[in-house]
Amino acid sequence: GLSLSSSTEPAIVRVAVRLRPRNAEDLLSDADCVEIQPELKRLNLKKNNWSSEAYRFDEVFSESASQRRVYEAVAKPVVESVLSGYNGTVMAYGQTGTGKTYTLGRLGKDDASERGIMVRAMEDIIANTSSSDSIEISYLQLYLESIQDLLSPEKINIPIFEEPKTGKVTLPGALVVKIRDLDHFSQVLQTGEANRHVANTKLNTESSRSHAILMVNIRRAVHEEQNEIPFHEKDGKGNLSYDRSLPIVRNSKLLIVDLAGSEGHSVEEAKFINLSLTSLRKCINALAENSPHIPFRDSKLTRLLRDSFGGFARTSLVVTIGPSSRHHAESTSTIMFGQRAM
Ligand code: ADP
Ligand code: MG
Repeated sequence: GLSLSSSTEPAIVRVAVRLRPRNAEDLLSDADCVEIQPELKRLNLKKNNWSSEAYRFDEVFSESASQRRVYEAVAKPVVESVLSGYNGTVMAYGQTGTGKTYTLGRLGKDDASERGIMVRAMEDIIANTSSSDSIEISYLQLYLESIQDLLSPEKINIPIFEEPKTGKVTLPGALVVKIRDLDHFSQVLQTGEANRHVANTKLNTESSRSHAILMVNIRRAVHEEQNEIPFHEKDGKGNLSYDRSLPIVRNSKLLIVDLAGSEGHSVEEAKFINLSLTSLRKCINALAENSPHIPFRDSKLTRLLRDSFGGFARTSLVVTIGPSSRHHAESTSTIMFGQRAM
């Protein structure tokens, strides 16, 4: 039968699903198990000829959706919010080979239309800041609950620091690169990707088993008549804690997270990989239930996300799936993860 899952609760996370086009690894003999109804924002997963399950998302992208459309629907609202002083997160979740990195990390050097969310977000950030503002990035890999610096790969086991008063999460040990322009950003990102490849070859792992995290810190001098003041810069009594004669310095942070492949792993790795993903799921559930206790402390990933997820932070999640019936089980579990986040 056809059942429809949808949620009427206010969304903690905006969730989109994206279907990858068929490729050479999808065997010709495999039927497609995914049917997309973009106008209904609905996706049907066919188990067989007689039974299918329907799911509704905030956005549903077919295999022909462009990188630009995905960026505009998924990431742009988060980027705009970050530009006005709030923290935000964009994440991709799905089985290895379904398009997480294509969606987020694609550089599109030869063809700008291919650019992914990271490059497009930086393009928008650069276009909407002035030369007196600062844009700084760090690029990290989280593997087996250890954070490695992809821009300075000798730095492993980078600790997470949380400012006790403000709750601000920082990585004081990570290399910070001040971005000059979009070409510079692409170069830095490419270096990070190359380092990721080398690091994973050395560790004898695949990048599919680690999370990649781009952290963008924006510092802007904003004059008081501009925009609305973010809540977190008030003193707790509703008073603005700045000298009215000076521009306000406004800090905000964007995290773009290419999550580890959602498929099964070796038992030892699964313990750690699932620790982060399981904690993420628990935090999402707790936020959705308005629970007073959000278990952010349980994993490195959720500790990193703590000040950029829930509350005033905007979050978007793209779940990626392949079309083939061979992956019906993985696609179902990916879809369920996305549904829980809504
Ligand atoms: P993941 O990061 O989830 O393991 P990738 O992003 O590396 O997956 O995608 C796997 C392959 O599929 C890559 O060759 C990628 O270029 C291609 N691909 C993924 N999504 C799309 C898409 N929407 N359009 C065209 N090619 C895609
Ligand atoms: Mg990938």
